[in-house]
Amino acid sequence: MSPVTPPFSDEHEQLRQSIRGFLERELAPHAQQWEHDEWFPDEVFGKLAAQGLLGLKYPERYGGQGGDYLHEAVLCEELARIGSGGTAAGIGAHVNIATPPIWKFGTDEQHERYLVPAIRGEKIGALGITEPGAGSDVAAIATRAERVDGGWILNGEKTYITNGVRAHFIVTAVKTTKDGGHHGISFLIVDRGEGVASSKLEKLGWHASDTATISFADVFVPEQNLLGQLNEGFKLIMANFQWERLAMSLGAVGAMALAWERTAAFARERQAFGRPLSGHQAIRHELADLATSVYTCRCVTYDALRRFVAGEEPLKEVTMAKLLTQRACFELMDACLQIHGGAGYMREYWVERAARDARLGPIGGGSDEIMREILARML
Ligand SMILES: Cc1cc2nc3c(=O)[nH]c(=O)nc-3n(C[C@H](O)[C@H](O)[C@H](O)COP(=O)(O)OP(=O)(O)OC[C@H]3O[C@@H](n4cnc5c(N)ncnc54)[C@H](O)[C@@H]3O)c2cc1C
Repeated sequence: MSPVTPPFSDEHEQLRQSIRGFLERELAPHAQQWEHDEWFPDEVFGKLAAQGLLGLKYPERYGGQGGDYLHEAVLCEELARIGSGGTAAGIGAHVNIATPPIWKFGTDEQHERYLVPAIRGEKIGALGITEPGAGSDVAAIATRAERVDGGWILNGEKTYITNGVRAHFIVTAVKTTKDGGHHGISFLIVDRGEGVASSKLEKLGWHASDTATISFADVFVPEQNLLGQLNEGFKLIMANFQWERLAMSLGAVGAMALAWERTAAFARERQAFGRPLSGHQAIRHELADLATSVYTCRCVTYDALRRFVAGEEPLKEVTMAKLLTQRACFELMDACLQIHGGAGYMREYWVERAARDARLGPIGGGSDEIMREILARML
C-alpha cells in the first residue's frame, strides 16, 4: 500500500526504518514466547532505552532525544511490528501515559528521580486512575490520601493497570478532599514498597502485559511526591488524554496496515477451487474494503496528529480518530481472521492474537460510548 507521508518528513521516515528494523530483529522473534509466558522481560525497557526509544519526545537534559510528538508518533505506529499487543501495551503505557505527566507537571527533583531513570529504562512506570468502582466516571474515584506530617497516607485500590506488577512507580490519582470529584482529585507518584500489593489479572488479549489490581494499605507517600497542584489532578488527566488517544489511534493504524499486508500475501498464496483466494471476487473485494479502511483511518489520524503538533487543541478530531480507528481495527482483524479460515483460529497464526488484542481499543483510554458522548456534546 502506498504510504501517506505527511506530516512526516524524510527524517521521520528514516527513524521509522531504524525502529522497524530494531523491533523486527530484537523483539518480534520472542513475541510468541512472551505471549505464552504471559510476561515480557523487564530488560526490554533497557534495550529500547539503549536505542533512545524511551525518550524520543523528551529534552536532552533528561537524557531524551530532544525530538517531538512526531518522532513519538512513528514509534507508536511501528510498535505493531513486535507482533505482541501486550508488549506494545507495556511500552506504550510507560512512554505515553505514565511519564508524560511527570515531564509536564513534575518538579526538577521529580524529573531527576523518575523521568531520567524512566528514559534510561531503569525505572518502569504505570498510570493508576481506574478503580473497581470508577472507570469512565473518573471523578468517582475513592482511593483517598490523608494529610499527615511530611506527606500522605494512602488507602484504596486501582484496577486494570498496565505494568501494574512490574512498575517501580505508579502515577496515582487520589482523592485529597472529603468529597473528591472534579475539584478534589490530586496525583501522587507512589513508589512500590510497603503497603503496595499487586495481583495480575487474566484477560482476553494483550497476554504479555501485566494488567493488575494494585491495593494501597496505609502507604506513606512523602510530600515531595505530589505531582502538580493539590486538588487540580483533573487538569493533569485532561492534559494527556489527547496524546493518549492519538497514540492509540496511531497504534491501530500501524496494526491495521501490517495485518492487511500479511492477509493480502496469504490470499495470494492460499489456493481454493483451483486458484489463489485473491482470485475470488468476494475475497478481492473484501481486501479492497479493508485497504479503504486502513487508508481512511490513517488520513483521519494524521489529520488529528497534524493539528495536535501545530498546537491546536483538536479535541473533536482526536476523539473522532479514537472512535473510528479502534472499532475499525477490531473489525479489520476479524475480517483478516476470516480470510485465513481455520488457520486464523489457531494460536500459531499471528491473526488469532491480533484479533484478540484489538478488542481492547474500543474500551481502553475512553470507551466508544464516552467518545460519542464527547462528540455529541461538542456538536
Ligand atoms: C487491558 C486494559 C488495560 C488498561 N490499562 C489501564 C491503565 O494503565 N491505567 C488506568 O487507569 N486504566 C486502565 N484501564 C482501564 C480502562 O481505561 C477502563 O476499563 C475504561 O476507561 C472503562 O472503564 P470501566 O472498565 O470501569 O467501564 P465502565 O466505566 O463501568 O463502563 C462500562 C460500559 O458502560 C459504558 N458507559 C459508561 N458510562 C457511560 C455513559 N455515560 N453513557 C453511555 N455508556 C457509558 C462504557 O462505555 C462501557 O461500555 C485498562 C483497561 C484494560 C481492559
